[in-house]
Amino acid sequence: MPSAASLPPAPPFTLRARVVSPLGEGGVLDLADGLVEVDDGGRIAAVSTVDDASPETVGSAVDLRPWVVMPGLVDVHAHLPQVPNAGLGYALPLLDWLDRLTFPTERSWADPDLAERLAPAIFRAFAASGTTTVLAYGVVYEAAMDASFSAAEAHGIRAILGKVMMDRLTYDETIEPSTILDRTLRESADLAGRWHGADGGRLGYAVTPRFAVSCTAELLAESAALARDLGCWWQSHVSEDRGEIAEVARLFPEARDYVDVYDRAGALGPRSVLAHAIHLSAREEARLAETGTPVAHCPTSNLFIGAGVMPLTERLAAGLAVGLGSDVSGGPELSLFGVMRTGAYAQQALRSLAPERAAMEPDAVEPLAPLDWLRLATLGGARALGLDRVIGSIEVGKEADLILVDPGRTAPLGPELDDADLLVDASLLVSRLIFRAQFDMVRAAWVRGRQLEGPS
Ligand SMILES: [Zn+2]
Repeated sequence: MPSAASLPPAPPFTLRARVVSPLGEGGVLDLADGLVEVDDGGRIAAVSTVDDASPETVGSAVDLRPWVVMPGLVDVHAHLPQVPNAGLGYALPLLDWLDRLTFPTERSWADPDLAERLAPAIFRAFAASGTTTVLAYGVVYEAAMDASFSAAEAHGIRAILGKVMMDRLTYDETIEPSTILDRTLRESADLAGRWHGADGGRLGYAVTPRFAVSCTAELLAESAALARDLGCWWQSHVSEDRGEIAEVARLFPEARDYVDVYDRAGALGPRSVLAHAIHLSAREEARLAETGTPVAHCPTSNLFIGAGVMPLTERLAAGLAVGLGSDVSGGPELSLFGVMRTGAYAQQALRSLAPERAAMEPDAVEPLAPLDWLRLATLGGARALGLDRVIGSIEVGKEADLILVDPGRTAPLGPELDDADLLVDASLLVSRLIFRAQFDMVRAAWVRGRQLEGPS
């Protein structure tokens, strides 16, 4: 059995293990006894079976069998300061949940020392869950965002973060309302100047107006212009909860619908990630597809809060780029394996409880299989971020963002009595990993071949 001591901390190295990954051109790579060579620049230099490799290469490899090497998971929607709240607030209405739990926690990050203390542990927790890339919201405070970026820089995770912008509904009454707009734009631009593209693009900035309820039309438009000018990402929430949708209609009477609020702001497009997108009209869905605007699907959050179930197969059939988000702490767990599991159950429920909807779907739209969920959690997220040429799969030339998973931890009777033959098929292996995911099954994570602290 491999041990933590044998894991290579930095490139170059060659791993020997079972290798499972979606492929950019479709299909799945599944090498029962494979080698992944990582060069000294942290890129994947070669992927092969042991039989096809030279004896020298095989001899130099770190033998991690029977563990599995997979691409690192890509979480396209989370909230850093909310991680300590994970698991709290089940079934509270969205706007109550914000007032009672979320805003007080975010307000506590006005103290940058707190952010400095918590952020390193938060990134370790993501890595321990198998997440090697995260797109996340922070708080409204610039100093806490600098502390968060510094922590990500030191930890090694791939992170795109943004200072939350709110000028209509705020959680810090000490900030003079008339100064908020200029101040939040300036602070966002300053943060992006310091961090966007840092460490060769490992860190990025996302201009982050929280959602339409907490932002004026002016802030939304200015934030979108800022993201365009700086070449940053832009992120917000859309169509999560029915109460929220009604409030947006009241606040923006000139808009046709929720998506139109962001459309009028000039915010839609391939660099804008919208979280949830549950209750979209056909027009809204078509408009997101037309503008190439990606969506973060967050099923654990949607069921925890009770916001609804996004019709995933419909969104995919419409051509939307969909990634998966933990949405901690709207969602109770950081693990995207848990998000895949909950998402799969939710889609089954949607099909069985609404057969008329299933009947309306094109025949070609089957429920997603376990390997399809893995694709969403890796390449799907990378595509939603426009990073699918860089990360998301184990293919030559990509950066070596990898995780190592121990399937023995998921065995129903323990690893000694597990029948390895049962998992010869990659779809069954991934089914086991999703539906029996354990907190401790991720044994290592690397970004660009550099090992991340967190997994044990
Ligand atoms: Zn969220």
